[in-house]
Amino acid sequence: HLSDRLHAVASFIPKGSTMADIGSDHAYLPCFVVKQGIVQKAIAGEVVEGPFLSAKKQVEEDQLSDFIDVRKGNGLAVMEPGEVDVITIAGMGGPLIAQILEDGKNKLPGVKRLILQPNINAISIRDWLVPNEWKVIDEQILMEDGKIYEIIVAEPADQPITPYSPAERLLGPVLLNNRSNVFKEKWQQEYQQWERILNELQEAGNIERIKEKKKELEEKMTIVKEALKWKN
Ligand code: SAM
Repeated sequence: HLSDRLHAVASFIPKGSTMADIGSDHAYLPCFVVKQGIVQKAIAGEVVEGPFLSAKKQVEEDQLSDFIDVRKGNGLAVMEPGEVDVITIAGMGGPLIAQILEDGKNKLPGVKRLILQPNINAISIRDWLVPNEWKVIDEQILMEDGKIYEIIVAEPADQPITPYSPAERLLGPVLLNNRSNVFKEKWQQEYQQWERILNELQEAGNIERIKEKKKELEEKMTIVKEALKWKN
């Protein structure tokens, strides 16, 4: 049984694609999409020995070794340029996903779609995508077991991308436009947490670093307050 989260990631993979799943852990996602007939050839990349061995074991158990290549290596180092149509990177923090893309830039020509599922700080990914000329074509937000996940789908831009507004950067251009209930829930939670932090900082004096942190929080809170006020 595949998690709703990985199901949602899979739903963005066009049928007939070749894919690389980076940080694949048990290789659940490549195994699922190959069994479903969505993908014919997949690479499962892992940098850590334990998860790498789990991925190998899973692929062998599912008798998918002819279709899924489990490779050990850091980020996109496991693939050659032009080898896959789609790259999925799921279940990590946004900054790590952005770093993997940045470090693997030379592998990206020929890739038609990135499907990225940050657990936190999706903003880091949007901030990487825009200057690197990847356009967000879709986004999804979902809740599973009380946790909220975002998915960002990007394709190479055929023209320069208009920079996102502060709200689009933080909240996601598509998610902001849809303002689903899960979206509202997520940002209410974040807002409340920032409020708590801000209260704690009020008592922490006024050194420069704290002033900056406060300002950053207040800016984010203003963005979220505005976004949640809008009517659907
Ligand atoms: N993608 C799976 C999912 O969404 O369920 C697994 C997520 S798991 C929390 C993150 C995995 O990414 C770990 O197995 C970790 O070893 C791997 N990872 C972290 N940094 C990596 C990197 N630079 N290159 C490849 N794999 C990495």
